[in-house]
Amino acid sequence: MNCPVCGSKATGRVGVDQYYCWDCCVEYKKHRDEVSIYEVAEDGSLMAYGGQEEI
Ligand SMILES: [Zn+2]
Repeated sequence: MNCPVCGSKATGRVGVDQYYCWDCCVEYKKHRDEVSIYEVAEDGSLMAYGGQEEI
């Protein structure tokens, strides 16, 4: 499926109903009709996308 953030098709499946976007470097999970979006931190952990803006 396309990335829900940027709409890119450059996504890869990384788990069950879990995908990664190579363009904006987010992971997202699809659960029924809901899509949860996560940012991947430098240490590999996931953070809720858009929750806090740390740049
Ligand atoms: Zn994207």
